[in-house]
Amino acid sequence: RRRDPHQPEFMQAVEEVMHSLWPFIERNPKYAEQGLLQRLVEPERVIQFRISWMDDKGQIQVNRGFRIQQSSAIGPYKGGMRFHPSVNLSILKFLAFEQTFKNALTTLPMGGAKGGSDFDPKGKSDAEVMRFCQALILELHRHLGPDTDVPAGDIGVGGREVGFMAGMMKKLTNSTACTFTGKGPSFGGSLIRPEATGYGTVYFAEEMLKHVGQSIDGLTVSISGSGNVAQYAIEKCLHLGAKVVTVSDSQGFVYDKAGFTPEKLAALLEIRNVRRERIEVYAKEFGLEYHVGKRPWNVPVDVALPCATQNELELEDAKALLANGVRCVAEGANMPTSLDAVDAFHEAGILYAPGKASNAGGVAVSGLEMCQNSQRLAWTSEQVDSKLHAIMRSIHQNCVDYGTEGGHVNYVAGANIAAFVKVADAMLQQGVY
Ligand code: NDP
Repeated sequence: RRRDPHQPEFMQAVEEVMHSLWPFIERNPKYAEQGLLQRLVEPERVIQFRISWMDDKGQIQVNRGFRIQQSSAIGPYKGGMRFHPSVNLSILKFLAFEQTFKNALTTLPMGGAKGGSDFDPKGKSDAEVMRFCQALILELHRHLGPDTDVPAGDIGVGGREVGFMAGMMKKLTNSTACTFTGKGPSFGGSLIRPEATGYGTVYFAEEMLKHVGQSIDGLTVSISGSGNVAQYAIEKCLHLGAKVVTVSDSQGFVYDKAGFTPEKLAALLEIRNVRRERIEVYAKEFGLEYHVGKRPWNVPVDVALPCATQNELELEDAKALLANGVRCVAEGANMPTSLDAVDAFHEAGILYAPGKASNAGGVAVSGLEMCQNSQRLAWTSEQVDSKLHAIMRSIHQNCVDYGTEGGHVNYVAGANIAAFVKVADAMLQQGVY
């Protein structure tokens, strides 16, 4: 707090992890030695740079770019790039810190990183997005590499942006090695990568319910967001027989009592990904309830999957969900639930999974994309999906092994301790540097 007084999101993420780790560290004091905890919270390297680019009117625009290389203890730095006006050092440091733990849980050898810019892709032409991405890589390329740092997408960064960045990376380095994941399938991208975070979140929720003898089939689900993670979470819910009744964006939410159908989902994807319009347009096209300026947590559901952004589910939202009978919350987004809302879920004794466990499917398939690129092979959708499913089951099992207290699984403690042990052991074995 003394070092980073103006970084609330980073403090929140560190506090959450340290709070659940502390009893474990007291029982295992070797993990408090060698400055391990101080080293863990300090990024290995923070890169901040200027991005100047020309818009369609010939005007020069200047944005701020960042890359946080948090930890290389167990593998190359790995984590997405976020393009959103809210991006700042605090948000990216929280994401890089979380990413280090999440990547450790995937069972794959990946360190933690995160990056991005305060650039807003909304309302920009494809040519402007391309020039911006190229300008960003003109600086960042010197810090990236297949065995050094491998970025991917996040909010505001999808296949289009990754393609532009990967193209410029190849040009500048004269190398086609895998320095980005989430690429198009024609140039090394893995099948199922776009689906992976959303599918993985629902696989995880399914495991949580199974563990207490329940099934997701027939349950009612609220989902926030309408981007990459939300879209494929909806699709997997439909595959598994659940009914999804909400979707949202930063302006409001849609309530669809009858639930999503494959036709409605196809229309949502067209509106969001091709026409790049808001969900208000989707609500109008299907004559659905649209609630401007509201969050989707005040409707009766069994399962809630927050898939938009950090701190989008606060204490009042948690109380509304609990009053309406929610029994399982699994995070598709990173840190969408505030600390007091998490406490409310724990006190109520419902199933609650933090994003670092439940949304790890995206980075897991990114790791599988790196494997395929190294092998110069492309696996089928079925192969990747079955590996994703196995990884999500293994993360769930890890949470059960490390987080079971009195017959109840504390997924926050389980995920934090399992990931910490892996990263901390690697750091202790590699000495202090
Ligand atoms: P997208 O950009 O595809 O979608 C983001 C969604 O969240 C949009 O619906 C957006 O609405 C909404 N949103 C963004 N900012 C806010 C805000 N301040 N308040 C309310 N809603 C907001 O991003 P992704 O789906 O890729 O990412 C969603 C979350 O999942 C993020 O937390 C991300 O870090 C996390 N995540 C993503 C992974 C991936 O593989 N993509 C992997 C693991 C985690 P609008 O269009 O109005 O801004």
